[in-house]
Formats: sequence, C-alpha cells, structure tokens
Amino acid sequence: MTAKIIDGRKIAEIIKKEASNELEKLYTKYNIKANITTIKIGNNPSSDLYLKLRDKACKEIGILSNHLEFSDDVTEREIIRSIKKLNSDERIHGILLQFPIPDHISANKLFKTIDSNKDIEGLNPYNIGKTLIGDNSIIPCTPLAVLKILEYEKEKIEGKNIVIINHSNIVGKPLAILLLNRNATTSICHIFTKNLKDYTIKADILITAIGIPNMITKDFVKEGSFIIDVGISKNKNGITGDVDFNSVKDKINKITPVPGGVGPITVACSIKNMIQTYRNLLELKNY
Ligand code: NAD
Repeated sequence: MTAKIIDGRKIAEIIKKEASNELEKLYTKYNIKANITTIKIGNNPSSDLYLKLRDKACKEIGILSNHLEFSDDVTEREIIRSIKKLNSDERIHGILLQFPIPDHISANKLFKTIDSNKDIEGLNPYNIGKTLIGDNSIIPCTPLAVLKILEYEKEKIEGKNIVIINHSNIVGKPLAILLLNRNATTSICHIFTKNLKDYTIKADILITAIGIPNMITKDFVKEGSFIIDVGISKNKNGITGDVDFNSVKDKINKITPVPGGVGPITVACSIKNMIQTYRNLLELKNY
C-alpha cells in the first residue's frame, strides 16, 4: 500500500483560521492592531520566499508586518542596537529574526537580546528554558509545526520511538525536548552519528531536517512508519526534501511532502506565535 501524503497546506489553513479568530477577539477587546517586525540580514533567496509567504499570511488576517533589512557586512552591534530599539518601541508587538544569518553574527546573542515577550520564534533563552520544563506558552515555529502535524493526524506520541536527524538550536534540540515532554523515546542523530540507519530503522516516527536531497531511502525507514520531512534543498526545478519518496512510498504509512508539507505549517505557526506575542504585550500593559 502506498503511503498517505499529508496535506500541509490544509493543516496550515486550519491553524491560520484559529489564529485569525484569536486575533479578532484581541482586537475587539483592545482596539490596537498587531504589529510585527522581521529582521533580515543579507540576500538569501529562501529568506525572500519565507518573507513573502509570511507577509501574505499577515495581510490576510490583518497583522501589520514590516522589515528591517541589513546588508551582509552589517555588524552584530548594529543589529543588537536595532533590536533594543524594537524592544522599547511600544508599537511593536513581535520581533522575528529571519534565518539564515551571516556567520560573523551570533544567533544566540541576537535571541538573548530580543525581549522574551516579543520573541516570535520562541528562541530567547528564557523561552527555551520554559519549553524545557514543559511550559508551552511559546514554542519555536518549526518544532511547533511538527507537533501540529502529529496532532492533526491524531498520532499518539507517548511511548513511540521517535528519531530526529538534526541537532540545531532551531529544529532538533527544541523538538527533542517537546517530544520527550510528551513521553516519547527520543533520539537525536546528526552528522557525527555513527551507523545512522541503526537508529532510523527503529523509528516509529522519523523526523528529518538535514538539507541533503533524497538522502533518506527505504533502507533507512521502518515498515509502517510516519516520516516528517523538514529538509529543504533548492535546485533548478524548485525545492526538494531529504526523503526519496519513490524509494520509501511502499514501505511507510504516512509522509509529509516537500513542497506543501512542513513549510506552510511553519509559516502558519509563526502567525500563531505573532498573536501570542501580541497578547503578551497587551495583557502585560493591561491597556
Ligand atoms: P543546520 O545546518 O543547522 O542543521 C542540519 C542538521 O543536519 C545538523 O544537525 C547536521 O548535523 C545534520 N546533518 C547534516 N548532514 C548530515 C548527514 N550526512 N547525516 C546525518 N545528519 C546530517 O540547518 P537547520 O537550520 O537546522 O535546517 C535543517 C534543514 O531544515 C534545512 O534543509 C532547512 O532548509 C530546513 N528547514 C525547514 C523548515 C521548514 O519550515 N520546512 C524550517 C527550518 C529549517
């Protein structure tokens, strides 16, 4: 039997609808428009694509969205100064740092600078600490997208063997903690993992975020498993995920496609998080 292909766009629409209802309630109560700023550093075509998709989604539901754009050679100091200005600007309810950023700038320093109440990505150390102890008030957008897929597919997490191939701060580490907090047996694999297949072949749920096109073939996957493909690689025909769909399709149960899988849900989750930061600010100031 061929695997079920999850419709990421459909799940994204449901999340955006919920977010829109929430936004409407807050707007009715406080009569202030949600207003967020994205910081973009350098020229990266995938950043432009994400910005475009997010701006479109913001416009659709009535969030004001603006960008601060910097060239590749901007100093870390300059970005930190701009973030501090946004932190103290009462008109701004959320700050989003667009990845990737140039190597000479420390993402950790920038996330540390972003006010934890305005942190749309949920990657400020205070918010990451909350995620660690199971306080889910703001969850990093891509890990949240993975949780939403499992939720909408009514997939039981407790007791499952879940393998994540990625150990970055924005994807693998927070996701592993979130799944562990839901009582999964979670393994994190990465470029230094020896005998990767020994782990992945036991995964009831395999989450891959490598960025190498079609690397995951049928010999990596367990019969009847669920694969969530977070990876994105650009090529002349568009974008490709980490999983070789034709190779795995008759062995597994469910899979998220690329494009049309995790990507649109991540955008919808960033909208959801924008509303969370908007609510933080309104309730904090008790307008
Ligand atoms: P990253 O470069 O920080 O992480 C890549 C991870 O893959 C690392 O943990 C690395 O150790 C691992 N890896 C690399 N080669 C490997 C190999 N041969 N075997 C095993 N592990 C290997 O990147 P990131 O920012 O975490 O993003 C990862 C991927 O996910 C990228 O393709 C990115 O475009 C994609 N991404 C997608 C979304 C989305 O919404 N769909 C969001 C964020 C990132």
